[in-house]
Amino acid sequence: MPAVPLHLSGHPDIALSADCGNCFALCCSALGFERSTDFAHDKPAGQACRNLAADFSCTIHARLRGEGYRGCTVFDCFGAGQHVAQDLFGGRSWTEHPEVRAPMFAAFPIVRQLHEVLWYLDEARHLCRSSPAVGDSAAAGVASLTEETVGLTRLEPARLDAVDLAELRERVGEALKDVSVAVRSAAGGRGVPRRLVPGADLLGADLAGRVLQGANLRGAYLIAADLTGADLRWVDLLGADLRDARLQGADLSRALFLTPMQVAAASGDSRTRLPERIQPPAHWQG
Ligand code: SF4
Repeated sequence: MPAVPLHLSGHPDIALSADCGNCFALCCSALGFERSTDFAHDKPAGQACRNLAADFSCTIHARLRGEGYRGCTVFDCFGAGQHVAQDLFGGRSWTEHPEVRAPMFAAFPIVRQLHEVLWYLDEARHLCRSSPAVGDSAAAGVASLTEETVGLTRLEPARLDAVDLAELRERVGEALKDVSVAVRSAAGGRGVPRRLVPGADLLGADLAGRVLQGANLRGAYLIAADLTGADLRWVDLLGADLRDARLQGADLSRALFLTPMQVAAASGDSRTRLPERIQPPAHWQG
């Protein structure tokens, strides 16, 4: 969780960072996880994790990574947890009010996706304001989609099921693409290797020290890539897989559409430069 809670621009009532103290551990209960290197046991959706305490804290919080729960140190609800718990269900916990359990667990994954969409749209709005290269029509599209998504987060829980998330994500993706193209074109980007394209397979690639400014690496597979000391400013990283990527000394201060989850899945250090709204994860050393 960031030192200073993040809120959606123009909407101080909508948080974009988690406030676990005002949630009922919805990520540890509503969501399902398969046993993997990120989560040490099978946990069906709707069933509380075996490591969850009665007060909604995690009994192995200080040892998560060592005990095989690395995914829990990476997960981010973008502020959806407290919104569902406090705003949509009036602060009634699913333990004390069993009648809210099913609708609350059903609402959380949907609202989480909406908050993630707002995370991206919020960045796009900042880019629209700060970059003259972004046209008025792209900016208007981003503003309109933001208000539409805000409205969806305020729906009655029973109506959330009807939200067409795939269709919304597609429209938001197009709007973000327009912003990204404008911003990256203004930033230059000549000299970026031709293999650095959206969706590129860059598993374990050696990109240490490279200047990648302006590249479009949307959805690229950068798993375990060596990006130490790389210049990733104005690189579109929307949906890029950065698991175990090495970001020590890399400059991501102006990387586009980066999320805290992507950063937490990678490794970095005190020299890694991150966008202002993303704090270095607690597990980064040095
Ligand atoms: S291990 Fe802890 S943080 Fe992870 S889901 Fe279980 S209770 Fe939550």
